[in-house]
Amino acid sequence: MPKFDTVFIANRGEIAVRVASTLRSLGIRSIAPYTEPDRKAYHTQVVDLAVPVQSYLHGEQLISLAREKGAQAVHPGYGFLSENAEFCAACQKAGLEFIGPSPDAIARMGDKLLAKQQMKQAGLPMVPSWSGPPEEAVEGARSLGYPLLVKAAAGGGGKGMRLVKEESELPQAIERARGEALKAFGDDSFFLEKFIVNPRHIEVQIFGDKHGNALCFGERECSLQRRYQKIIEEAPSLAVSPDLREKLVKAGVNAVRALNYTGAGTVEFILDEDEHFYFLEVNTRLQVEHPVTELVYGVDLVALQIAVAEGAPLAIEQSFLKPRGWAMEARVYAEDPDDGFLPSVGTLGVFQPPAGPNLRLDTGFRQGDEVSIHFDPMLAKLISYGPDREAARRGLLAGLKEFAVLGVTTNIPYLGRILSHPTFIDGEFHTQFLEASGSLFSRTEDSSKQALALALVGAFGPRTKELGSPPNGSPPAPTPWASLGEWRLN
Ligand code: ADP
Repeated sequence: MPKFDTVFIANRGEIAVRVASTLRSLGIRSIAPYTEPDRKAYHTQVVDLAVPVQSYLHGEQLISLAREKGAQAVHPGYGFLSENAEFCAACQKAGLEFIGPSPDAIARMGDKLLAKQQMKQAGLPMVPSWSGPPEEAVEGARSLGYPLLVKAAAGGGGKGMRLVKEESELPQAIERARGEALKAFGDDSFFLEKFIVNPRHIEVQIFGDKHGNALCFGERECSLQRRYQKIIEEAPSLAVSPDLREKLVKAGVNAVRALNYTGAGTVEFILDEDEHFYFLEVNTRLQVEHPVTELVYGVDLVALQIAVAEGAPLAIEQSFLKPRGWAMEARVYAEDPDDGFLPSVGTLGVFQPPAGPNLRLDTGFRQGDEVSIHFDPMLAKLISYGPDREAARRGLLAGLKEFAVLGVTTNIPYLGRILSHPTFIDGEFHTQFLEASGSLFSRTEDSSKQALALALVGAFGPRTKELGSPPNGSPPAPTPWASLGEWRLN
């Protein structure tokens, strides 16, 4: 079985850092690209070789660099070219192993309509839906009933999706969704789907190898979303009983078999209030929230991706896959929840993540780095682990309270307020909870106190560039904590 000695990571930021970390532990050389604004980015520092490129989306250039620098395989991360069937095929054509599924599986799952058809055949339960010519949509919608969702077949990240409560709103919603989809994906095909009221978003981690073996890890709970974007994820889910988990996992395994799937993927479902689950989509890549699965199953999913790409059989017995303990992840964004979640840009004058035996931090930033408008404003993912949900929740909350960031506004206080809310603590939430709660999570006295405390840290502490990088052998610059003596945020 050929082992890789060099892998090209076709990505940037936290996921490039994450993948590089596993490569290092496996003794595999890593190469990653960077564009001009990323010249000094963290991911360029942790790989063995960083190479300049024009764009992270320039597949041809990435492939030729990967070959030129001696890589045998390409890890696409998530986002960018990770779900691009042509890029995957071009890698294979250039003799590079694409660490992911086949171009065919990517293409079929990239089209939501095709994906639905195929998963229906594989026996997965479906939300009632309608597709057909736009002029027949009113009739189609009547057959489904309201409320419903207009969805773009090529959609992703909530784009091209519109909620329609009554017939009079339908034509405009279709027009808008199609326009948005055409702009974002170059494809305006759409379908209608029954809107499930107050559902949970539950997903399972699938894996297939090149020998026909299928594996499915248990669920991630991703119901805490804002504008269809996940913010807090956990594994396992309070809403999933062992019985239901078995059914979800079986559906996941069926999906792998139906697709002849290789590598890591995610099957997303929505779960209604009566514990019925319905297929949503398959993401043919590693997910942002993969760490919660890693923690409760004690597995390095990137290492598993690499083993599968090298041709190893999946050596894990399905029946051994049982979640242990609880993991919870919060996505820390440079944005202002009290000002319409406007992205915030600036220099990370202070960037001091918490540490502890049950905390994991995945980030693409270091103190002193620039948060720019060029890329996603996610600063970090903070993940906690504990023997049970409450321990994981408290650990995450404590970690967030210690996370000191200055230079940009962050959603840290907002995340803290969600984690402290009785509905979250009871686990009685659904995908519309955050939106429906409106101002429930807006600024409180507590968060202004934290902001004040952080401002004080800034006032007492030295300026960014001196932190941790003493100029010309002078004694190390004192940290803000040192200047504050025994005074701490909490
Ligand atoms: P995208 O690919 O754009 O992320 P998805 O189809 O995965 O779109 O849906 C994103 C989110 O929208 C889901 O996590 C869920 O919260 C919500 N959603 C999707 N379909 C439905 C539905 N039929 N009923 C209720 N909510 C839905």
